[in-house]
Amino acid sequence: MADIKTREFSAASAVSILDPQIRRALERVGTGFDAARREAIADVTPEVWEEWREHARQIKIHTLDHLDYYLDLLDHNVTKAGGQVHFAVDSAEANAIVSELVRSRNVKIVTKSKSMVSEELELNPVLEALGVDVYETDLGEYIIQLAGETPFHLVAPALHKSKEQVARLFTEKLGIPLLEDIDAMAAAARTALREKFMQADLGISGANFLVAETGTLVIITNEGNGRLCTSAPRMHIGITGMEKVIPSLQDLAVFLRLLPRSATGQAITSYVSMVSGPRRQEDEDGPEEFHLIIVDNGRSRMLADPELREALYCIRCGACLNICPVYQKVGGHAYGWVYPGPIGAIVTPMMVGLKEAKDLPQASSLCGACREVCPVKINIPRMLLHLRHNLQESPKREEKAGGFTGSALAWGYTWLMARPRILAVTHKLARNLQAPLMRIPLSPIRKGGRGLRRARLPLLARWTRSRDLPALPPRTFREIWQRELTLRDSIISNGSDQDA
Ligand code: SF4
Repeated sequence: MADIKTREFSAASAVSILDPQIRRALERVGTGFDAARREAIADVTPEVWEEWREHARQIKIHTLDHLDYYLDLLDHNVTKAGGQVHFAVDSAEANAIVSELVRSRNVKIVTKSKSMVSEELELNPVLEALGVDVYETDLGEYIIQLAGETPFHLVAPALHKSKEQVARLFTEKLGIPLLEDIDAMAAAARTALREKFMQADLGISGANFLVAETGTLVIITNEGNGRLCTSAPRMHIGITGMEKVIPSLQDLAVFLRLLPRSATGQAITSYVSMVSGPRRQEDEDGPEEFHLIIVDNGRSRMLADPELREALYCIRCGACLNICPVYQKVGGHAYGWVYPGPIGAIVTPMMVGLKEAKDLPQASSLCGACREVCPVKINIPRMLLHLRHNLQESPKREEKAGGFTGSALAWGYTWLMARPRILAVTHKLARNLQAPLMRIPLSPIRKGGRGLRRARLPLLARWTRSRDLPALPPRTFREIWQRELTLRDSIISNGSDQDA
């Protein structure tokens, strides 16, 4: 299993928020990606966009309802085209299949096209342990491989790096002079990778979609690296999750419209590569062997849970990250594993376990923006609430989200809200008690706020660390409502007197 740091979400997000480079990078997800997405939708008109979204959702619902049938059909058609399909229950099994292929074919150099599932499996260290040289060839993935980091964003893995940081990294790792120009850096990466493409024995790719009726693996990229990885080496292994299967090429057309527009605002990506089996006799190029590894790794659990199965509709466009107020502040590394943002907060606990990732479902304001932008209309907030419920109700102490204090507070709140008279007395009491505290001057760091600072209230230290505790209003809703009713009654009774 990959290096999981999901338990460190609170500490990691506190560090990210204070990092000026990450803050600058995150500004771009709203002004860049999300603005481009909106423009792309305006171009096709919101009405047409809604039709596409609904169509895509129906395709996903249908496919997952008949997943066994479509996986069988895919297996049949890949085999018919000369490829071989392997099913892997978990990361250990998937890595063992790749290792066996690598050993038996005496593979020495591997080029990789972007694959989130291979990140999920932590495949690179497994290959390196076998003495294989592994080269990520997507530019963003190449940068983070050189830096020894994990992806920061679903579609832009090196989004958090400034061009100066990348220039220094290239100088240090590639031994080239310090470059200032982004095009020159891209050219340097191209030069470094070109000979690897030619030397590689094995190309590994992910898949954006798997078309069951034709046994086709579809990759969508903006760089030509995917095509080189899948056609130049003598063997190609595609590794992907079982939810990527769709029934037909006609269905693919719907997703080809939705995915690039949602991800980067492009009408279509630069390269749409479709691989159906290994090279045929009449083909000029292509691999001699094609293997497709379909990975479960917790997906069956999601499929079996009616409340969470729609997380499998995800096409990894990243739109929910770009709009999320939490992701926009903390960035991808704070989530501690491969899948960041709102969809990561659902997928990660299902894959690594609730205990390991219990902070992630709490990392949401439940504003609903992710659901609004999702091209397959995934109801992310509902699933986050479901996971919170599971955490709260879990019989395992280590899975409880708020621990003893959280449970005690929730119990106390429920008890109080069910007793209106005691609630009214408590309100009055709290209002009177807060009066002396409200006279304490606010910290000079944040003038203009109204409330109580952490230093004065140690019990609420975490809450007030970055915000004021708002003062209770002079009147509660119940009191205002009661006054309105009394006023209305008196107007009615005065009016009746005049009529009389
Ligand atoms: S949940 Fe929806 S918006 Fe988020 S990455 Fe997946 S498809 Fe895109």
